[in-house]
Amino acid sequence: MDPLKRLYLESIGVHYLPCRPQDRTAAPDQPLQEFPADLQALRRHIGDCRRCPLAEGRRNLVFGTGSPEADLVFVGEAPGKDEDLKGEPFVGKAGQLLTRIINAMGLGREDVYICNVIKCRPPGNRDPLPEEVAQCEPFLKAQLDILRPRIICALGSFAARALIGPEVRISKVRGRLSEYNGIPLIPTYHPSFLLRNPGAKREVWEDVQKIMQILGLPDPRGQNP
Ligand code: SF4
Repeated sequence: MDPLKRLYLESIGVHYLPCRPQDRTAAPDQPLQEFPADLQALRRHIGDCRRCPLAEGRRNLVFGTGSPEADLVFVGEAPGKDEDLKGEPFVGKAGQLLTRIINAMGLGREDVYICNVIKCRPPGNRDPLPEEVAQCEPFLKAQLDILRPRIICALGSFAARALIGPEVRISKVRGRLSEYNGIPLIPTYHPSFLLRNPGAKREVWEDVQKIMQILGLPDPRGQNP
């Protein structure tokens, strides 16, 4: 960014701009700066991040996993215990269910990209606090700017709020085509909700079939996972 433009923005109190492919910016407590343009460099840029208090209790920062060329990106909320231990998103029971959903689409985890809004585990799996979201969310947006998938699936209300708007309710928006920064987006229930409410699997499968239609994927099973 032009130094004069940067100085002007900082003088009027603007320390963060929404991420766009040509204008990536850092977390709100950081000076305006460009994010790297590929995932590995972005991970190095985040480094041993200590921008919010969640750094204190984590074992591993859980960045994301999957194909950098993925047409489909799943975005969840935050790592849980298993994910914190392994450093990989969605590897516990909810993650195993997500894997079955991906497999039912005729895909493998290596074909998609999976990440969370928050990169470090909140203690006791509590909801992330607004200030933690404010610090971490720019990393997710930088990831999505780099990936530019054909479609995003927001898993649960937390991800839907981060990507669509703070007022949305997952029960109202699930299955509805929306968009994030020009990328089509369909929210559905989080797999951990499905573990508690298995009756909602049918609705998730309906949402997943819409994603498959957009991606032009054949329905290999014709039934829900
Ligand atoms: S949750 Fe995000 S902002 Fe907070 S320490 Fe982890 S990576 Fe940094």
